[in-house]
Amino acid sequence: MEKLDRIKELAKELKLEYLDASVDKIIEEASINDSSYQDVLLSILESEIYLKDKKAQERRLKFAGFPVIKKIEDFDFNFQKSITKKQINRLLEMDWIDRMYNLILLGPPGLGKTHISISLGYRAIEMGYKVSFVTMDSLMHTLKTQEISRKSKGKMNRILSSSLVIIDELGYLPITREEANLFFQLISSLHEQASIIITSNKGLEDWTELLGDPALTTAVLDRITHRCELFNMSGKSYRLEHRESLF
Ligand code: ADP
Ligand code: MG
Repeated sequence: MEKLDRIKELAKELKLEYLDASVDKIIEEASINDSSYQDVLLSILESEIYLKDKKAQERRLKFAGFPVIKKIEDFDFNFQKSITKKQINRLLEMDWIDRMYNLILLGPPGLGKTHISISLGYRAIEMGYKVSFVTMDSLMHTLKTQEISRKSKGKMNRILSSSLVIIDELGYLPITREEANLFFQLISSLHEQASIIITSNKGLEDWTELLGDPALTTAVLDRITHRCELFNMSGKSYRLEHRESLF
């Protein structure tokens, strides 16, 4: 067997994808540029690491389950002034995830709560964190069916193994007593294990009515707000203001 083929075979076995795919090119370029052995080895190893990181990031992105991708670069801070660019830049450093701080974004629809949450989640993924995005509605479904559905069980494992869990749209749909209990149990499990972002159209004072039980609401809020940054957002709906009309 040719040495090149043997290198490819071994690279495959060791899962060195860059070497496997590019060994011909690497050797040709090294000879053209008269590169040192050290430079060649270094370049191969760096490329392997780069490729592995990129793949892991793609896996984490898929795992996160974002409904769409939103970037913070596309967020207009002149339109939404309840949260400043400086605050977001601080959040983009992500040390709050290491310290297991939570974020609560409150306010009526169209203010960019979901946009900001996804942008932060996206950056967290770029920085190597595991993130899960769920709507409150789908979370309730998953929680209720985890004992009978493997898909739901898988989703729950995904959520419980994340460093950041984004729960979007708390308060749009009514919550039963059973659901409120399951929600409390989840928040308890995540508490001091992961960071949580919650977005809601309801103020904290309305959560008791939403969750249907003052003691349970206090227990939930107690855990979430223990280490938490709260953004009370106001202003105009970006959707309504930038409405695209057919006529
Ligand atoms: P909310 O979750 O508060 O209801 P969204 O984040 O879903 O609002 O925002 C509605 C739409 O408007 C999305 O497409 C979002 O990308 C866009 N959007 C909202 N606020 C801004 C903003 N300040 N700059 C740019 N796009 C925005
Ligand atoms: Mg939203």
